[in-house]
Amino acid sequence: MSTKFEFETRSIHSGLERDELYGATSLPIYETAAFAYQRAEDLEAVFAGRKPGYIYSRINNPTVAAFERRINSLEEGLGAIATASGMAAIATTVGTLTQSGDEIIASKSLFGGTLQFFNEVLASNGIKTVYVDPTDIEAYRRAFSSKTRLVFVETIGNPKLDIPDLRAIARLANENNVPLVVDSTLTTPYLLEAKKFGVNIVIHSTSKYIAGSGQAIGGILVDLGNFNWRNSKSELLVAMTRQAGEFAFLARARKQILQNTGSCLAPFNAFLQNLGLETLALRMKQHCENALRLAEFLKTQDLVGVNYPGLPEHAQYQLAKEQYRGFGAMITIRLGSKERCFEVINRFQMVKQLANVGDAKTLVIHPASTIFHTYSEAEQETAGVYPDLIRISVGIENIKDIIDDFEQALTGR
Ligand SMILES: *Cc1c(COP(=O)(O)O)cnc(C)c1O
Repeated sequence: MSTKFEFETRSIHSGLERDELYGATSLPIYETAAFAYQRAEDLEAVFAGRKPGYIYSRINNPTVAAFERRINSLEEGLGAIATASGMAAIATTVGTLTQSGDEIIASKSLFGGTLQFFNEVLASNGIKTVYVDPTDIEAYRRAFSSKTRLVFVETIGNPKLDIPDLRAIARLANENNVPLVVDSTLTTPYLLEAKKFGVNIVIHSTSKYIAGSGQAIGGILVDLGNFNWRNSKSELLVAMTRQAGEFAFLARARKQILQNTGSCLAPFNAFLQNLGLETLALRMKQHCENALRLAEFLKTQDLVGVNYPGLPEHAQYQLAKEQYRGFGAMITIRLGSKERCFEVINRFQMVKQLANVGDAKTLVIHPASTIFHTYSEAEQETAGVYPDLIRISVGIENIKDIIDDFEQALTGR
């Protein structure tokens, strides 16, 4: 479907093909491992890439492909690849761009799973991560070397909630002939138009706001079509351009990484993620509105600190306002001690305690004793995790009920 329609319209109509058999208007779920062909010549042509067609659902599947087209339309990209999880999207992207001996530059405040992937899997495969403060553009400049193959940032650091200047980092990365890869899970395609800021590859964990109700795990990566892979510093990608032209990144990602690591998205999960997308814009507006109201309420309470990018005192408030269509729905509060955090968490009645974000439900967690429990105190502090910090993922319940639950949990009344 054309990109002339607005975001909300595309999130409902794009990606679907007419169902010639029955006229179904909801995405059909093709639960099949493989696809049969009558003529040997046809399967030969599909394998050779001369004829479009599906072979085996580890490589691609019509339900998954529809979800990929819809996300690609929302990001106005060159093409998208759906994966089994957000982590699989990150691993596929980094695997496509790097090999042993290479380096990547990444922001210090990263999702815990990403940090562990970089420190354990990449490091043991001979790929070094150089960490920088995402808000310090000079630190990025100093971090480049002839071995750098990509720059990786998150749109809203988790749980630090710091905001990188995407346009400035993209310019710097591209001057060094490497792509900027952005994990936009917390901003979604609705809050961030990644391409407008020069981002080259955007990644989403679709397990979060895109699915919307915490019902399934999934991920996706999108090549935004604005990086010339012929200029890439990776010989493998340059070689791929001879076969695939501008699709070199997507071809290597699907045919060499996704296909061989088996990190494909299941058709039923693609159906669930695709369904979630239809209401993404509506939900994100409500998530952001509720988060601002809750942050303002929390400021009236006697807390050690309230951090939310939508509060004017946040260090990157202006930048967040220019870059994003809303300030997201992550808030952190500091209560003075771990014991006080536990006391408050134990009093919640509606709000759920669990290790997830981006759910229709309001969620809280004490990161220091859970997600970051294997980290030293110094490592925790670098990531913005303190013993007295609670992370909140604000849901789309009625704001009165959210505020009431926080009030009773904080005051014990
Ligand atoms: C959850 C999350 C991931 C990982 O996604 P999964 O779908 O859980 O594998 C990556 N980045 C961010 C910012 C996340 O919140």
